[in-house]
Amino acid sequence: MVSYKELGLVNTREMFAKAVKGGYAIPAFNFNNMEQLQAIIQAAAETKSPVILQVSKGARNYANQTLLRYMAEGAVEYAKELGWEKPQIVLHLDHGDSFETCKSCVDMGFSSVMIDASALPYEENIALTKKVVDYAHQFDVTVEAELGVLAGVEDEVSAAESHYTKPEEVIDFATRTGCDSLAISIGTSHGAYKFTREQCTLDPKTGRLVPPPLAFDVLHEIEKKLPGFPIVLHGSSSVPQEYVDMINELGGKLPDAVGIPEEQLREASKSAVCKINIDSDSRLAMTAAIRKVFHDKPGEFDPRKYLGPARDEMKKLYMHKIINVLGSDGKA
Ligand SMILES: [Zn+2]
Repeated sequence: MVSYKELGLVNTREMFAKAVKGGYAIPAFNFNNMEQLQAIIQAAAETKSPVILQVSKGARNYANQTLLRYMAEGAVEYAKELGWEKPQIVLHLDHGDSFETCKSCVDMGFSSVMIDASALPYEENIALTKKVVDYAHQFDVTVEAELGVLAGVEDEVSAAESHYTKPEEVIDFATRTGCDSLAISIGTSHGAYKFTREQCTLDPKTGRLVPPPLAFDVLHEIEKKLPGFPIVLHGSSSVPQEYVDMINELGGKLPDAVGIPEEQLREASKSAVCKINIDSDSRLAMTAAIRKVFHDKPGEFDPRKYLGPARDEMKKLYMHKIINVLGSDGKA
């Protein structure tokens, strides 16, 4: 058993309280390799933004959970080396699917876990979430729960259609589970293919697909029921069209990939939404940058020569999100 406090990590409690009050959101960036982690920490240190490092079940399988945990510990020291005296870094389990997974993360030094029991019937979601909360709170680890169903595919989480969170359930759910934050469904969706052509409209000027707007009415209803309670948005990549175009022009194939417009995320950040999850966008930035090197320099075979530019591109993306979308710069 190792406490996250010994590793220099923090939980989300104070961070979220400040973000809700201050009208901004904390970025939650997924990572599963060194270049992504370096880019995240460089961006957070340079902008002095609190940051949540997210590890999904898929990432744990891909990179090894022990290695990821030590990487997060290293990230704290790396942030200090970069001149960030008191780094505010959370290590968070994304979409924990069982009590055992959440417990093992708490025991190995995560400062925050998500238990996603949203696919279960309501009462079972409450029971499992409460079990995780009761365990995690003994060690001052914060817990994110989910109510409502998000469409899309993210690692091993997938659902064909979304069901908005029912505002009439949130008080009961938050009270009975004791969770610290709540992921809700208001029209965001996992992955780079968030919406079908039929769900979108076509912008006649650009010929691009325009996704349906987020259900801000549902968000505001939830805010009214639970004033000041931290709300989380999953599936909130914007799928920047410049990366999609780059990838497609350089031999890739990503037809109809569209995301959540950044203006809507900016708007959401000003509300009780205090954590916004971004994963696909950094995958796109990385892929676009690597494709560019392979296109421009077909003779290149030193991974540092394409992973380096990929890292720079991801850092640029993270800084843009922090400064222009979430507004979390200067808050740590
Ligand atoms: Zn998610």
